[in-house]
Amino acid sequence: MTDSPTRIAVIGSGPAGFYTAGHLLKSGAGGHSIDFEVDMLERLPTPWGLVRSGVAPDHPKIKSVTRVYEKTAANPRFRFFGNVAFGEHVSRAELLSHYHAIVYATGSPLDRPLSIPGEDLPGSHAATEFVGWYNGHPDHTDLELDLLAAERAVVIGNGNVAIDVARMLVLAPSELAPTDTADHALEVLARSRVSEVVIVGRRGPAQAAFTNPELLELGELSGADVVVDPAELDRALAVHDAAAEADITSRRNVEILRSYASRPLAGHTKRIVLRFLLSPTALAPGADGRLGAVELVRNELVTDSDGKLRAQATGEHERIPAGLVFRAIGYRGIPLPGVPFDERRAIIPNAGGRVLDPSTGTPLPGEYAVGWIKRGPSGVIGTNKKDAQETVDAILADSSPDGEGLSRPDSPDAAAVEQLLRERQPELVTYDGWASIDRHERALGESSGRPRVKLTRIEEMLRVAAGD
Ligand code: NAP
Repeated sequence: MTDSPTRIAVIGSGPAGFYTAGHLLKSGAGGHSIDFEVDMLERLPTPWGLVRSGVAPDHPKIKSVTRVYEKTAANPRFRFFGNVAFGEHVSRAELLSHYHAIVYATGSPLDRPLSIPGEDLPGSHAATEFVGWYNGHPDHTDLELDLLAAERAVVIGNGNVAIDVARMLVLAPSELAPTDTADHALEVLARSRVSEVVIVGRRGPAQAAFTNPELLELGELSGADVVVDPAELDRALAVHDAAAEADITSRRNVEILRSYASRPLAGHTKRIVLRFLLSPTALAPGADGRLGAVELVRNELVTDSDGKLRAQATGEHERIPAGLVFRAIGYRGIPLPGVPFDERRAIIPNAGGRVLDPSTGTPLPGEYAVGWIKRGPSGVIGTNKKDAQETVDAILADSSPDGEGLSRPDSPDAAAVEQLLRERQPELVTYDGWASIDRHERALGESSGRPRVKLTRIEEMLRVAAGD
């Protein structure tokens, strides 16, 4: 064993950050040569990233993965510093003087824009805002969402986020009541007049990014029919896609959609309509100046030079009257102060997790990336476990005697860095502070049979974390 531990700062407390911490702390256990200590810095007072603020509230089983992260957090060589923003309270250079390595696990918090006229009209929203709002993310608590004016909502995109958004819009108040949906969202969703949600894909069913359980779940909703036009399905499937044919998820998605197209409607008051081969070209205002309709162009599938099927606009247009539109066309990473960033891919440039200096293409000693900010916004929560292993393997290799080496901190001292962080952010939230928030939220939920009632304002969280 070495005398002094190897100290790692993980920036961000979502699944990628926690799997990284977990793998590092395990690798130090059991007499191996490296003893790691991990400090996790998080912008919010609360941990778990998208598990808390992205996973849909009616999917509590998926959220139970936090039990694994809680075990990591219980390790005496782990510390949580919440309410600390990288680049604002502490800089990259300061962290490199206190830690042997920094692992960036900051995800992809932004939405991707459609870049079409009318995108800023009232009634047009990013799915990221809506998801954050119903999940109680403090950045989105004040979102103004008019679910009273609109009877039809259009969701652009054919991924799982589009499905989550559509499902949340049609779930009955009684189905939402036992979940941890934020109180402000429960109240607005209960009064919603939205009765039809149209999910629009620019390509066909075989190219959709849905996963099978999520698509199947749409067909099991107690209060909404799923509508698929068999003629549109046939048109989209007429073009052979070898890659989709070879992909079991895609084949099963097509089967599920075919079954939706052929089954009789149950006659529910709400419906989810799945449309294909359509791209929005503009969002048009109604008489009141709010969103009134989505203008779309019909697409055909053409094979690209790389063999991939791409949507190409035909001259045919369509207009779908709608008071709400949600763009769910993927997330985007944001640059971190002082850290290299690949603007095109919206990720930190890296090789297997080692952050690369863009001017030389060589790794920056002691800097690593993991999760969505490393590979882009794809995959499910579990994907980050393997991804984190790759980054941790790079750290292990670099810290071995014949490795490339980590950063050489002047002051790798646990107390010194905590003092610095507390000076910069007197309202720093430790893991005990989070545990107080957690207990408080669970207690609030108990009387109404909900897993928790989320605090959605930072000031409230800080008060509870401080024991006030
Ligand atoms: P995604 O899976 O990447 O899907 C994005 C969709 O947007 C694709 O259908 C894409 O179509 C479409 N799109 C992109 N640009 C477009 C444009 N300009 N116009 C029209 N459509 C456009 O992204 P996501 O839904 O945000 O999900 C992100 C990740 O989180 C995924 O890996 C997802 O599986 C995961 N997730 C999982 C769950 C769950 O497990 N329950 C829930 C939510 C999210 P093309 O294919 O044509 O580009």
